[in-house]
Parts: sequence; C-alpha cells; structure tokens
Amino acid sequence: MKTMTCRQLGGACDLELRGDTADEVIKAQDRHLREAVAGGDTAHEPALRDMKGRWKHPITGMGWYKNTKKEFAELPEN
Ligand SMILES: [Zn+2]
Repeated sequence: MKTMTCRQLGGACDLELRGDTADEVIKAQDRHLREAVAGGDTAHEPALRDMKGRWKHPITGMGWYKNTKKEFAELPEN
C-alpha cells in the first residue's frame, strides 16, 4: 500500500488516499472530490473540474496521469 494526499493529486486538503496502484488512488481521489463538492465544499471544485476534464481530453489528461503514476511509483511502501 502507498499513500498520496488529496493535495498531491491536485486537490485542496491533506486527506490521505491509500491504494496498491496509482489507479486505485486516483479513483479514491475522484470519489473524494465528488463527495466533497456534493457536500458543499467549494475548495474542491477546481480539482473536480480538472479531474472531469482529464477524461474528456485524454491527450492533455495523459500528462497528469503519467506524472501521477510516476510519483506513485517513487513513493515508499507503507
Ligand atoms: Zn481533499
């Protein structure tokens, strides 16, 4: 398991997201952003917009995805 924070993934808080793969952590972040915004948290709105935009624009989103995977790969196991 590895841990990345919401902020490391472009979000607005220091919530820790854990997973065995970068994809798991990205999915957890996606869920966290949706829940935060649904709960009225405006600080997470830009991050959610970016996250949604990545799926709509796979080419530009790919850079973020690759960086996040690389960052994840370099993290120590915990
Ligand atoms: Zn957050």
